[in-house]
Amino acid sequence: MSESRELHARQMTLPGWQETFQERLAKSTVFIAGVGGIGGVVAQYLAMGGVGEIVLVHDGPLVLPDLNRQTLMDREGIGKSRVETAAERIRSQIPECRIRTVDGRISPALSDLVRISDLLVDARTNFEERFLLNRMAREHKKPLLFAAMNGMEGLLALLRPGEGACLECIFPEGDPAWDPLGFPVLGSVSGTVGSLAATLALRVLAGYGQKEDDRMLVFDGMDLSLRRLSLARNRACAACKDEPQKTRRNLP
Ligand SMILES: [Zn+2]
Repeated sequence: MSESRELHARQMTLPGWQETFQERLAKSTVFIAGVGGIGGVVAQYLAMGGVGEIVLVHDGPLVLPDLNRQTLMDREGIGKSRVETAAERIRSQIPECRIRTVDGRISPALSDLVRISDLLVDARTNFEERFLLNRMAREHKKPLLFAAMNGMEGLLALLRPGEGACLECIFPEGDPAWDPLGFPVLGSVSGTVGSLAATLALRVLAGYGQKEDDRMLVFDGMDLSLRRLSLARNRACAACKDEPQKTRRNLP
C-alpha cells in the first residue's frame, strides 16, 4: 500500500467514497485567506484530507493573544511570521501537501494565485480584505467559502459566481461589529467554524454528497444549534450586478 493510500485509509472507507474523490483532492489547489482561528483549522484539515496544494495568505507576526485559538501556532512562534509558522507545521504533519505562502494582505497582486485555485476560503477578519477577495472570486469565477465568527456565533456560506448572492450582496456595508479587530473570540467556536468549513470544502472538492445550496449556515455556540438562512442576491450589488446568472433550471 502506498503511503498516500495508507494515510487516507480511514476516509476511504466512508460510505460512497471513491478513489476518484481522493484523486480530485490531490489535484486541487485551495487559496486560504487567513491562517488564524478559522483558517488555520481549515488549512490543517484540507492538508490531512489530501488536498494537493494550499496557498496561505496572512500578514504579520504571531502575538500572544493569538494563542487562545490558533492551533497551528506555538510559543516559539511569537514574533515570527504567522503564515510561515503555519506552513512549517502543516509540512511536518503532511509533507505530501504543497504549500505556498504570502505574508501579506489580500490585494489584486494575488490575482495569479486566485486564478490557479479551485476554491477560495475567506477566513479574514476585516471586510476590506473580504470584499477584495470576493471581487477577485467573481472576476475569476471561483467559488468562495465565506467563514466567520464573532463571540459565540459562527457563519458559513459557499458563494458561487453566477449562482446567487456574493459577499457584498449579503453585507453591503460590511459589518461594523466585526471591524476593526477586537470582537470577542472563544477559540473552540472559531475551531468549530473551521471544522465545518473544512468538511464542506472537502466535500465540494471531492464531489462527495449533494450540491450545497446557497444558504448561510449559522452556528450558535450557546445552544449548539445550526440554522440555515436564505441568501438573496442584490440586483444593484456593485460587485456582481453585471454577472450573468444561471437560472434554477440549468443548475447542474
Ligand atoms: Zn453581489
